[in-house]
Amino acid sequence: MKTVIDAHKISKTFNPDTIPVHAVRNVHLHLEKGEFVALVGPSGSGKTTLLNLLGGLDKPDHGNIIINDIDITKLSPNKLIEFRLHNIGFVFQSFNLIPVLTAKENVELIMHLQGWKKSVIEKRVNTLFQEIDLIDKLNVRPAQLSGGQQQRIAVARALASKPKFVLADEPTANLDTKSASKLLDIMAKLNQDEGMTFIFSTHDQRVIDRARRVITLVDGSVSSDVSNSVKQNQSMPVI
Ligand code: ADP
Ligand code: MG
Repeated sequence: MKTVIDAHKISKTFNPDTIPVHAVRNVHLHLEKGEFVALVGPSGSGKTTLLNLLGGLDKPDHGNIIINDIDITKLSPNKLIEFRLHNIGFVFQSFNLIPVLTAKENVELIMHLQGWKKSVIEKRVNTLFQEIDLIDKLNVRPAQLSGGQQQRIAVARALASKPKFVLADEPTANLDTKSASKLLDIMAKLNQDEGMTFIFSTHDQRVIDRARRVITLVDGSVSSDVSNSVKQNQSMPVI
């Protein structure tokens, strides 16, 4: 299997000079292509901070994060922006679609920024809107869509330019049960059909049950890392 993320001994402390908060402590994480991973733990355990570090939205104080053979902790701010654009897809709790753009334009944007050919973009957008079951909403603006529909579009946007992996921070937190379940169906299908690697944080037990690997954080450290098939009775060693 191909390694997608190799994070080694990463730590992040906020307010180091006043009242330090050790949000992420000495975390090792190895993720391979095609994994479908839930990051769980109580509020304040460091899930968002860890995802932000893995996605290059924030820098660790210590440690290395190797993505696609590149140590992103060593990149300059401009190079990091460029790296994110080409390698990482993001889904946020609050959808973050651009309100003045249509659903289709939101999904196309990154492909345009990356200079894809128009005909290729058109094909990719159609495939994705079929996958998220919103082919009839291509030209609708986000405000006219439900939360669940907006989040499905956010997932399509994250995947559009075929990143190395998709990070989703509590993607179902603002969704009702039915929409959350549908979103997970779609993420699981895209994981299968496109081999897309997903790592998502969540509080929701129903979402946790859908993951194939569950990593639990407590006070910024990995307290368990188990594959779902053995989750009931056996812990795998923390890498
Ligand atoms: P989770 O997503 O699991 O709820 P977070 O990663 O948001 O946890 O937060 C982990 C810890 O770091 C918490 O104690 C939080 O208050 C703190 N924290 C997060 N972001 C910041 C920040 N920008 N400045 C200071 N403290 C922060
Ligand atoms: Mg969080």
